[in-house]
Amino acid sequence: MTRKLYYEDPWLLRWESAVTGCVQVDGAWEICLDATVFYPEGGGQPWDQGYLGGVRVLAVTERDGEVIHRCDGPLAVGRTVEGQVDRHRRLALMQQHTGEHMVSGTICRRYGVNNVGFHVGSTIVTIDFDGPVPPEDLPKIQAQVNEAIWQDLKVECFVPDRAALEKIPYRSKKALEGPVRIVRIGEVDSCACCGVHVTSTGQVGLVKLLSCVKFHQGVRIEMACGHYAMDLLEQVFDQNRQVSQTFSAKLLHTGEAARAMADRLAQAQYQIGHLQRQLFDQIGEGFRGAGNVLLFREDLEGEALRLLADRIAQSCGGTAAVFVPAGTGHRLCLASRTQDVRPLGDRLRQALSAKAGGRREIVQGTVPADRAKIRDFFHTQGWDL
Ligand SMILES: [Zn+2]
Repeated sequence: MTRKLYYEDPWLLRWESAVTGCVQVDGAWEICLDATVFYPEGGGQPWDQGYLGGVRVLAVTERDGEVIHRCDGPLAVGRTVEGQVDRHRRLALMQQHTGEHMVSGTICRRYGVNNVGFHVGSTIVTIDFDGPVPPEDLPKIQAQVNEAIWQDLKVECFVPDRAALEKIPYRSKKALEGPVRIVRIGEVDSCACCGVHVTSTGQVGLVKLLSCVKFHQGVRIEMACGHYAMDLLEQVFDQNRQVSQTFSAKLLHTGEAARAMADRLAQAQYQIGHLQRQLFDQIGEGFRGAGNVLLFREDLEGEALRLLADRIAQSCGGTAAVFVPAGTGHRLCLASRTQDVRPLGDRLRQALSAKAGGRREIVQGTVPADRAKIRDFFHTQGWDL
């Protein structure tokens, strides 16, 4: 059995221990110690990373009470080595895990719903509940949790005996046998858990609830805690700074500025659409009764190619073939109100390796050919150009 120092003091992140075992397994070394500060994976909390006597700790697991450190190098059995846990990662994980308990406990008390799964370890923590939580209540829940954080309540971790355990109300995902470790945070929460937690709630720093969406029979809540909440805040702040500079808007007025810009853009697009229809009408009328029309344009974005080809087809009486430069070739649209354009598309595919498809009246696609080759092709089709 390894002595589990992380349960004795979660802030003990550096310790000298004796190496009691070292075996090579699948390209790494599994090292055991008489005592360890490295938390193994468990209770939903990922393992600690760091260094052990100069080798890197890649993963940590527990097998029959023995903590196994999977490392990128060997250590001599009997040697005393210093273990050093990556503090930033451990602190972030403890902040997330304690924050998760506080949010779960608060929501369980307020709405009578249970945490049925959670994920910590990424920037954003997710918690799944088995019943509804009104999304509009998120600010209230967040305020209540942060108030408890700032009261700096003690986080107590203990293993009561059976008799004492029966008198303690606590959350648990399943019926537990054997000793049960309880994590109690004042009146906020009491939960069966084998994870490593901060020692008082003030160390969580901050909880930011991000979203609440329907998930299976209940909801999934996303949130950020402590270090990661600060990182997220920094990123969001940086995005807002960019928006603020782009729109010359004050930092707390970027939403208004973005909405005003979106309105102006929608208006401009509407006007462009109107002008484009007028322009295409003019071009279309210019080809009235012209029969087959081959046209190269430079200025047709997106759907405009199809709209122009279709408009010309309305008046020309033959087939309209419109091409726009794209990369080293062209985008194309064939349109007709009098003929099936698909055979022409097939011949373009065979002659010029075009990729095109569509229906009887309209075929669209691309062709890896220049203007001269496209012209030659339509000559061979007997078009009068
Ligand atoms: Zn837990």
